[in-house]
Amino acid sequence: MMAQCLRFAWAWVGEAWLPDVAVTIDDAGMITHVARAAGQGGYDNVGGIAMPGIANLHCHGFQRAMAGLAERGSRPGEDFWSWRHVMYQVANSLGPDEIEAVTAMAYIEMLEAGFTTVAEFHYLHHDPAGAAYAQPEELAGRVIAAAQTSGIGLSLLPCLYSAGGLGRAAEAGQRRFINDIAAFCRLHEATDALLRREMPQAVLGVAPHSLRAARPADVAAIARLFPAGPIHIHAAEQIAEVNECSAALGARPVTWLLDNAGVDSRWCLIHATHMTTEETTALATRGAVAGLCPLTEADLGDGMFPGPPFLVAGGHFGIGSDSLIRIDAAEELRQFDTSQRLRDQQRVVLSPHDSAGEILVRGALRGGAQATGQKVGVIGPGYRADIIVLDQANSDLAALPPPRWFDHLVFVGGSRLIDRVYAGGHLVVSGGQHFARATVAARFRTVLRRLADTL
Ligand SMILES: [Zn+2]
Repeated sequence: MMAQCLRFAWAWVGEAWLPDVAVTIDDAGMITHVARAAGQGGYDNVGGIAMPGIANLHCHGFQRAMAGLAERGSRPGEDFWSWRHVMYQVANSLGPDEIEAVTAMAYIEMLEAGFTTVAEFHYLHHDPAGAAYAQPEELAGRVIAAAQTSGIGLSLLPCLYSAGGLGRAAEAGQRRFINDIAAFCRLHEATDALLRREMPQAVLGVAPHSLRAARPADVAAIARLFPAGPIHIHAAEQIAEVNECSAALGARPVTWLLDNAGVDSRWCLIHATHMTTEETTALATRGAVAGLCPLTEADLGDGMFPGPPFLVAGGHFGIGSDSLIRIDAAEELRQFDTSQRLRDQQRVVLSPHDSAGEILVRGALRGGAQATGQKVGVIGPGYRADIIVLDQANSDLAALPPPRWFDHLVFVGGSRLIDRVYAGGHLVVSGGQHFARATVAARFRTVLRRLADTL
């Protein structure tokens, strides 16, 4: 890619809206300079309202194939655990080409919907019979290929999954996920080598699946075993999981992690839905990110995150699309906020004195960057040129003053306001549509057709 300079009518720079901004991008896709455009020449006049792309901090790419296919109840009391049964059927039927096609579709939809980086919590490792591939990192390679097809920034988090539950052996449905810690370390090393070769700008982290599926002793040692990169873990998504953990380990999952695993700013606790007041404050104080997936949590009937006390305590949060039931950054933020309002029967509970939209977007930019370990979330020198351009000319934004824009984006206009998206300086979305959508969607729909017939 050639170095370039883009001129925007407005841009979110230094946590303020500035008019007439020129952004210089080098041939590696990094921002080198941001300045007022007036008086400069040699730029590509984009216009529009530029803001940083948001990092999607939690995704299982293959699950895009089952979005909407587990919405038919078969008995009263359907819950997360019955959804998981369908997920296992899907996970165990997909071949490598299919996983790549489905994941690429998810990533393209992310770029169209405001996400420019994704943290892939990657737990599908083995072939459908549960045997290791000739190259154990085969499916990690498919995730990398999907990221390259789409142009999205990638933080790859190979997942350690060793057990069927606390103190329980793995079930047949989990056969593609399972590694003991020694096999996992080999897989992680092979993935590291592959990533350095194929996508050196990507970030490698690690993801012990949860306290139910990774051995607690391994979780306690994980930060020492893998001394660099982000650490993500599912925690306290379900009451049943909290109760199981309390019975087996004598502590609720978040408390156990805080006491035993050295949770700090490298960590992202996905969901962290069911916390006591003490856990909420303690997690905030440690500087870890709470990885919220509000649309998935709503779809699965998980519960609601304790937003107001966590933010009051200075906690960091970001958003992820997890099960990919919907892929939309603005919608995740709106669901987060409105779920709190419904529970508390009050309005604007996350930001009593400020713009709710701005608090949500700023939080997601900052927490997403922290949780993915990437130089993103800012339009500034040294950051990757991940830029969303909102259509100012043909939307309500033209009639609104800048301090109203984030509220409009989150609560009203949503992702249909997105006109262009630059990922690492490459223009990947134009007129709201990704350049590779047609070819990738055709491959994806072949998979979807087959699955819809079998589930
Ligand atoms: Zn998840």
